[in-house]
Amino acid sequence: MSSAGHPGLEGRTIVVTGAGGGQGAAAALVLAAAGAQVIATDVTDTPALDLDGVDYRRLDVTDEAGWASLGRSLADDLGDEPLRGLVNNAGITHRARLGAVAREDWDRVLAVNLTGPLLGIQALAPLMGSGSSIVNIGSSAALNGHYPVAYTTSKWGLRGLTHAAATELGPRGIRVNLVHPGFIETPMTAGAPQAMREAQLALTPLERVGSADEVAQVVAFLLSDAASYLSGAEIPVDGAFTSSAGAKFMSDRIAGG
Ligand code: NAD
Repeated sequence: MSSAGHPGLEGRTIVVTGAGGGQGAAAALVLAAAGAQVIATDVTDTPALDLDGVDYRRLDVTDEAGWASLGRSLADDLGDEPLRGLVNNAGITHRARLGAVAREDWDRVLAVNLTGPLLGIQALAPLMGSGSSIVNIGSSAALNGHYPVAYTTSKWGLRGLTHAAATELGPRGIRVNLVHPGFIETPMTAGAPQAMREAQLALTPLERVGSADEVAQVVAFLLSDAASYLSGAEIPVDGAFTSSAGAKFMSDRIAGG
């Protein structure tokens, strides 16, 4: 993990969801290395990875009462200090297609990936103040028609939530942004079909997958004062996969004859 400097994060309290492993754990560790007081949360009782220097609490992001309880505990701990950050990172995938997705799986994916961030913002934005920052974790699937329909729809929905929240919370000096990871090596993608991995690589101009740390660095930037006038933005961290929008395939075919 890199601890590259992110100005102004020292001593700031920041909540990260889905931080027991994968990109959430990477973000928690980068933020802690930058001096932040990180509250890492996940649905499991203990984190899958070692989160040295990070406070860990169990939180299912679909659980309104759990969010309320976290809010009360933070309000007690913070006193007059504002909560400085929230990273809505928890997410699940479900790779069923349009004709096959079961209602219960559709509901579950939307509950975690879309309702979870809404509940988090509703519970914790009241504790925030000017200079606070919310980072939602979307996906390149929020910018195209990726086949796992529930996942894709949940991430497109998160775009709407992000822009509405940036509009609503802006007057209080709270910034809200959305990061779209491409194919990142985590437990989530470990189970991806081999053909999906190969196709994604073939369509990614940087011609490699990304690491959780590479996403975490962008998340930390968005939480830092270096991004103080950046709000309502969507930032792909995907090796130009969505920028290229399939044009790499055509370019490679033409070049290859
Ligand atoms: P991951 O599966 O490694 O980690 C997700 C974490 O979320 C897990 O620790 C899991 O326990 C937790 N989680 C699941 N349900 C939860 C719930 N109800 N409440 C709280 N926590 C819950 O996946 P990841 O790759 O680290 O994904 C992190 C985020 O990045 C997700 O929002 C995902 O959709 C997004 N994303 C990942 C990729 C990728 O290639 N890995 C690409 C685009 C977007």
